[in-house]
Amino acid sequence: MLAEIKKAAVIGAGVMGAAIAGHLANAGVHTILLDIVPRDLTDKEKAKGLTLTDKVVRNRLAQTGKERLFKEKPSPLFHKKVADRIETGNLEDDLNRLSEVDWVIEAVVENLKVKQDLFTQIEEVWKPGTVVSSNTSGISIREMVQGRSPEFRSHFLGTHFFNPPRYMKLLEIIPTEDTDQEIVSRMQSFSETVLGKGVVHAKDTPNFIANRIGVYGLAITFQKMLEENLGPDEVDAVTGRAMGRPKSATFRTLDLVGLDTFVHVSDNVRENVTDPEEKKAFEVPRLLQEMVEKGWLGSKSGQGFFKKVKGEKGSEILALDPQTKEYRPRKKLKASSLEMAKRAKTEKEKFRALVYADDTAGRLAWYITKKVLLYSAARIPEIADDIVSVDQAMRWGFNWDLGPFEVWDTIGVEKSVARMREEGETIPPLVEELLASGAKSFYEHRPENSCVFHLGGRFKEVEEHPRSISLARLKEQNKVIKGNRGASLIDLGDDVIGLEFHSPNNAIATDIIQMMNTAVKELESNYRGLVIGNQGNNFCVGANLMLILMEAQDQNWPELDLMVRQFQKTMGSLRYVNKPVVAAPFGMTLGGGVEASLPADRIQASAETYMGLVETGVGLIPGGGGNKEMLLRWMDGVDPRDRLVLQPLVNRIFEIVAMAKVSTSALEAKDYKFLRENDGISMNQDHLIYDAKQAVLAMDRTGYQAPEPKKIPVVGETGYNTLRLGAYGLLQSGYISEHDYKIASKLAYVLSGGTVPEGTLVSEQYLLDLEREAFLSLAGEPKSQQRMQYMLTKGKPLRN
Ligand code: NAD
Repeated sequence: MLAEIKKAAVIGAGVMGAAIAGHLANAGVHTILLDIVPRDLTDKEKAKGLTLTDKVVRNRLAQTGKERLFKEKPSPLFHKKVADRIETGNLEDDLNRLSEVDWVIEAVVENLKVKQDLFTQIEEVWKPGTVVSSNTSGISIREMVQGRSPEFRSHFLGTHFFNPPRYMKLLEIIPTEDTDQEIVSRMQSFSETVLGKGVVHAKDTPNFIANRIGVYGLAITFQKMLEENLGPDEVDAVTGRAMGRPKSATFRTLDLVGLDTFVHVSDNVRENVTDPEEKKAFEVPRLLQEMVEKGWLGSKSGQGFFKKVKGEKGSEILALDPQTKEYRPRKKLKASSLEMAKRAKTEKEKFRALVYADDTAGRLAWYITKKVLLYSAARIPEIADDIVSVDQAMRWGFNWDLGPFEVWDTIGVEKSVARMREEGETIPPLVEELLASGAKSFYEHRPENSCVFHLGGRFKEVEEHPRSISLARLKEQNKVIKGNRGASLIDLGDDVIGLEFHSPNNAIATDIIQMMNTAVKELESNYRGLVIGNQGNNFCVGANLMLILMEAQDQNWPELDLMVRQFQKTMGSLRYVNKPVVAAPFGMTLGGGVEASLPADRIQASAETYMGLVETGVGLIPGGGGNKEMLLRWMDGVDPRDRLVLQPLVNRIFEIVAMAKVSTSALEAKDYKFLRENDGISMNQDHLIYDAKQAVLAMDRTGYQAPEPKKIPVVGETGYNTLRLGAYGLLQSGYISEHDYKIASKLAYVLSGGTVPEGTLVSEQYLLDLEREAFLSLAGEPKSQQRMQYMLTKGKPLRN
């Protein structure tokens, strides 16, 4: 019988090991982090009189790995406090503690002999039921456990995390022929649900799936750059966002990964594949070898394909000229296809505009795309049994918008294959089979069932995770109840409705508010509950700033007043409607996005939710009930006569809102009370809508009762003066500007409940009126309007 995974051990506290331990801790799994015992003392240890027998010295490597977690940016931890779940130790004194854990993950140096010796040691203390896995990037999984007992081998597999493990979705699971199927299934479901990963099954082949294809793509791009006499900056202009890949494109990615690491990974494939042509593709070009020899390893050594230098006008980034091997100012690649791709409305049009264009950018994009597509298709079934795994691996492991086969469908299989044939390419059997079957694409979207894919000349349904609800699919199945340009009401099944925002950036304007009101009406008569959620890039970046600015510049105060009033009123109806409402925020959830979540009975947030009332950055304060909701949450259960409690709490809210604090995770959002203790957190964002729907159903089943309106204790005039005095101090010492002070004073007024006596109980409507007035008066300030304008044009806040 296999136990649940409650406790784990990670061996090797380097870049990956420490960060994997950090992510296990994020997921609530207690973890023992072990590394080797150092052979020498550091100068500091010597000065302290420590010896190699002292625990602090013996555990130093693991402890240093753990401490690194607090310093790295972006943070590997959801919250500093989760690191308490990580214990450190060493492999000599603590090896037998592996018998306490349910999963042991090996993340030591990439060396077969070291790993084999380690597994021999581990087996001595191992107990059946404990899963053991390796995080190797490319060493053969089965070779690592050669000589181990069949029972140990049945519990062994590869679990390949991508760096950084908290943020990269991909986890490649690599079973061997000896791995127990039940263990594979259990690890998959644990990794998906508890760790929030996207799991792909890979075979035990060199570099598995993502690195095999990704590194091939990087290698051929490098070779093409040299052939075409281009620079890394010019190539990156094509291979980044223009091709639906991350901004870091090819050469900035290589600089980030480290050129030595790239050479190592590339060599591993070259040494382990047999096809001479494939070996050639992975040959490391002379230039790259020279760069590694010179120590030009990329970001970690300060220079690689790019180098940051201090010039007369501040710092500047130079690019390496592959011919002269010297750094020169960056060049812009001018090509009309890049312009056309930028202007294209959809991702599909963008890709087509680029790959079929006859200019430098177009020819480069075509060559890279062609090579990667052909290579990927030829690797099936060698590296994976299906194309879906390959597409997911590239999306989740390399952050491509589309995997190779999705790209192929986008550019047209028949059209592109015809051109490939003309250019003398060999078409892999998988593609020939597809075309012979008469099919036009690798994926076929059929509304009645999930999309299907091609394998061995036939189509098969893609397995959907039971906890994933796709809003796009529901829309294809005509499950939209009502909709307008900004939002839709979608039937999520079981009499639960979903309110989906789909305006640009999911910014809130009148159309979304209208649809929220419709949702309330539908709820009252026809449904059991509501989920407010969407599957865009971010939950919601706030209210539509452009609209606010336009109305303010036109001095259209009655209109603006009405808009804010409506927003407040609608939030009120969501709070008090007699059916459960659950908000499901994720990613950036700012300003109005927070205000749209706070009135819900419960929030089910993605673990990666960055929440903040950031209005001060655009010269405003929350106007849609944000201040009132914060007071409700922070003052819950507080005795109005208890000044010693009231004032510190209001100080804290003031600090959060005035400083526009944004949480770095859902867990941290609890510190700010954007989330309450009983709100749920979904580790896997793909499960968010499902989890939110379950929360609605649970409330409905247990006899939901709407909350009663509450009176809220405020600090009144005395508290207002205290808050203002604090802000004045900051103004005097030059930390904040005059305009910051003006905004802070208005905020202080609202959060104190105006000039009423301290300890007064006020109504929600009273607070809403205060915040609306303050919002409107700030919207009329020229400096606030400058801030809004700046945010709209530059995408960052202006300090004025
Ligand atoms: P690293 O060099 O940062 O860390 C390796 C750790 O192993 C060090 O803390 C070292 O003290 C320890 N170690 C060395 N010899 C040991 C021994 N004999 N026994 C036990 N521990 C020993 O390496 P890393 O980048 O964290 O890589 C670890 C593993 O993860 C490798 O197999 C690597 O291929 C794989 N991996 C790395 C990345 C990445 O981006 N760095 C990504 C995915 C997988």
